Formats: sequence, structure tokens, C-alpha cells
Amino acid sequence: MDASLLAWYLAPAAALMLYYALRRRRAESAHARELAAAVAAGMTEPPSLHPVVDPLRCIGSATCVRACPEKALGIVDGRATLVSPASCIGHGACEASCPVRAIELVFGTERRGIDIPRVDPNFETNVPGVFIAGELGGMGLIRKASEQGRQAIRTIASRPRRHGALDVLIVGAGPAGIAAGLAAIEAKLRYRLIEQEPDLGGSVFHYPRHKIAMTQPVELPIVGTMRFTEVSKEALLAFWRRIVSGTGLAIHFSERFERMERIDGGFRVVTGRGTCEAAHVLLAIGRRGTPRKLGVEGEERAKVVYRLVDAAQYRGLHVLVVGGGDSAVEAALACADEAGTAVTLAYRGDAFSRAKPANRERLDAAARAGRVDVRLRTDVSAIGESDVTLAGPQGEARLPNDRVIVQAGGVLPTELLRSLGVDVETKFGSA
Ligand SMILES: Cc1cc2nc3c(=O)[nH]c(=O)nc-3n(C[C@H](O)[C@H](O)[C@H](O)COP(=O)(O)OP(=O)(O)OC[C@H]3O[C@@H](n4cnc5c(N)ncnc54)[C@H](O)[C@@H]3O)c2cc1C
Ligand code: SF4
Repeated sequence: MDASLLAWYLAPAAALMLYYALRRRRAESAHARELAAAVAAGMTEPPSLHPVVDPLRCIGSATCVRACPEKALGIVDGRATLVSPASCIGHGACEASCPVRAIELVFGTERRGIDIPRVDPNFETNVPGVFIAGELGGMGLIRKASEQGRQAIRTIASRPRRHGALDVLIVGAGPAGIAAGLAAIEAKLRYRLIEQEPDLGGSVFHYPRHKIAMTQPVELPIVGTMRFTEVSKEALLAFWRRIVSGTGLAIHFSERFERMERIDGGFRVVTGRGTCEAAHVLLAIGRRGTPRKLGVEGEERAKVVYRLVDAAQYRGLHVLVVGGGDSAVEAALACADEAGTAVTLAYRGDAFSRAKPANRERLDAAARAGRVDVRLRTDVSAIGESDVTLAGPQGEARLPNDRVIVQAGGVLPTELLRSLGVDVETKFGSA
């Protein structure tokens, strides 16, 4: 073959290679910028289970980057890197996709330990009769949480029944608690399912609006296979609500598990609504914790919430946000972005020193522009029907008010577990 003919054949291949090389370089630059932005924002710690890449094994194939539905991975310096650690929710799709097994999933990091309760293969803890299912046990994901809830109830159903008490108290109506409740109906157990929030769904309820959840088919008791693989938050919540009404699953909303003590044959449990006796307790409470309350007069009013789900619902209203961390600052700023919303941010501390620098700068700008009325060294003393009373350096002030968003931190599930005597292991980057 003469040289010109060879060039004729090779030119398209060379052009194609050049095209892919340029595309890859562009993608790598974008990944490096994303990583730099995460570092600058201090968002370098993944929430729980996450991949660690062995740089000696990684060949930079980018299959994990493509496999990650959360776009948490990128290629930096030719190696797979967690470029958006805060986005990682521990699917494990990256680990499964890696052709050279360079990825391992671990809990926690050297700097930030993750508390994982010890459970046996039946999801029972070291406290006999106390079970844990779902994300609280360390493994996130809708499918895994549902599956664990179902399996824990199967074990409980195989145990002897006790007269006069519930067979199981299920705590939490996220994916794990819903599946557990259905399994309890199927096994004809005497169950009670309580949920501290006024609605079901757990973490899913708090996803951003229209977020698409990726999941694998889930086997639900009574209902059969939930065949979604990609589903919007709203459609998933609607699906669960249909199941609840179709199966008669009883969920006691706005009832919080407080504590329990061992009694003969089970536990006496104290909730926000009273006490009950149960032979078994299944904790399906996730890892988000329980929001800390203010403990002031009027806090029980329906206008007081502990999480911001959608700032648009506060448009045109008088909103008080309480707290000094990132969540409080972000909630205040999100509400202030809505047209006609009058936002006051009250914090008992001297400065927003716990918030990220970028949030502090945005808050300063919003306060200067008169979009957020910032009140430091200020406590809430009462919440009225259409006003709130604040006590600050200038004395008491009564402000018109339609909604209160409390972001005063939370009681972590680990504290609850330790108080129940459940063994908890802190993992610093191990499987
Ligand atoms: C932003 C984000 C995106 C995600 N995307 C996906 C995805 O695409 N696909 C996927 O599979 N997974 C995803 N996940 C993970 C998934 O949502 C969780 O793994 C799953 O919801 C865990 O279910 P759970 O039932 O164990 O806990 P949760 O969903 O956290 O539910 C726990 C429930 O217990 C209640 N509770 C807590 N304490 C108490 C108490 N003391 N008394 C009464 N009730 C209590 C809570 O209010 C809550 O309703 C995502 C998570 C986040 C944060
Ligand atoms: S564990 Fe899941 S979310 Fe995290 S990087 Fe891997 S594929 Fe992405």
C-alpha cells in the first residue's frame, strides 16, 4: 500500500483520536474546577459510605464517572477522584463498574468518623429485641432500606408472640419503615408505626423539588415489585401515599420516639404522645436526626417547621428563621429570594461563625440590601398566631409573622442509640 493510500485510511482514525483526546481534556479540566470549588466551599467530606480510589490500580478508564448517577466522580490527573464529595450517597455503582477493582466503598474519613451501629445478619442489635433497618445501619439507598425493613420484620414475625403488647413498634416512615409496616401487616403482627414528621417518605420527602431518584426494583410486601428505576421525588411520594391508603397501613404522624426501658418480655416506650409496650422495636430512623426544639410558648403551632423544603411556599409572607449555622443562613437567603417575602434571621450568638464563608458573605450582602433583617444575640420568647416576640439587646420586640423555620441543629441518632445501650462503632475510612 503506498503512503498516500495509508494516510487516506489513517486520517479519519487520527481525527477521531484527536477529537476524543480534546473532549477528555475538556472534561478533566471541568472535573478539576469542580474539585477546586468543593475544596474552596469546604465541602470535602462525603456524608457516609463513599468510594476510595486506589491510585496505583486506577487506569483512568472513567467507567465509574459514567456509572455515578450523582455525578460525584471525575477524572483528575488521570485518576478517578471524588470531585463532589457532598453529592455522593453511597450507591456503589462506581465500585461495581470499575474494570480493574480500584474502588473500595468505605465509611467516614480520617477527619470525620461515622458512627455505625453493630447489627447481626437479621438486623438485630446487641440489645435483644431492638432492630435497626435502613440508612441508620450505614447503608443508604431506597432499595436497601426497604429490603432491610422487610427482612427485620420477617425475623420478628418468627419470634414467639407476647399477649397484651405490640409485636413491634416501628419508628420512622421512610423507605425502611414503610416496607417494615407492610411486612408487619402481611405477617399479621400487632404493630404501631410512628413518624415524627407530619408526612411520610423520610429523606425522600426532603429531596430538592423534582429530584430524580435512581433505584433498582424493590420487592414490597403485599404490593409486589416496585419497578421504578428513575422516578421523581413527587411521583415516589405519591406512590407511597397510594400504597398507604390501599393497604390500610396505619402511620401515626407527628409522634416522636423519645426513650424506652426494658420490661418483662419487651420494652415500655415513651413517645411524644404517650407510652406503649412492645415486644420488639425496629428503628428505621435514618441518619438525619431529630431537629432540636426551641422550647418556647407557641412552638406547637402548625406554622412552625424544622426544615425548609421549598422556599416558594413562603412567597409574600413574614418569615422568621431561627439559628446560626449554614442551614439557617441558607434558609433565610432562599426565602429572601422569593418576591415580597419579609425575612428575619434571629440567632442567639454574636456572629455566624459556624456558617461557611461564602454563606456569610451572601448574608452580609442580603442584610446590607435590606433583604434579610439579621438580629444577633436574640432569642425567641413566644410564637403567637400572627406574630413572634423576640428578646434581643434592645429588649423585647413583637414582629408580624406567618411562618417560623427553626434550624437549631439536631439530636443525632447516635446519641439515641447509645442511650438505648446499642453498640456503636466509629469508622474512619474503613469498610
Ligand atoms: C439528597 C439525597 C439524594 C438521594 N438520592 C437517592 C437516590 O437517587 N436513590 C437512592 O436509592 N437513594 C438516594 N438517597 C438515599 C435515600 O434517600 C436514603 O438511603 C433512604 O431514604 C433511607 O431510608 P430510611 O428509611 O433508612 O431513612 P429515612 O429516609 O431517613 O427515614 C427515616 C424516618 O425516620 C423518622 N424519624 C427519625 N427519628 C425519629 C424519631 N425519634 N421518632 C419518630 N420518627 C423518627 C424521620 O423523620 C424519617 O421520616 C438520597 C439521599 C439524599 C439525602
Ligand atoms: S458511591 Fe454512588 S454516588 Fe458515590 S461516587 Fe460511587 S456511584 Fe457516585
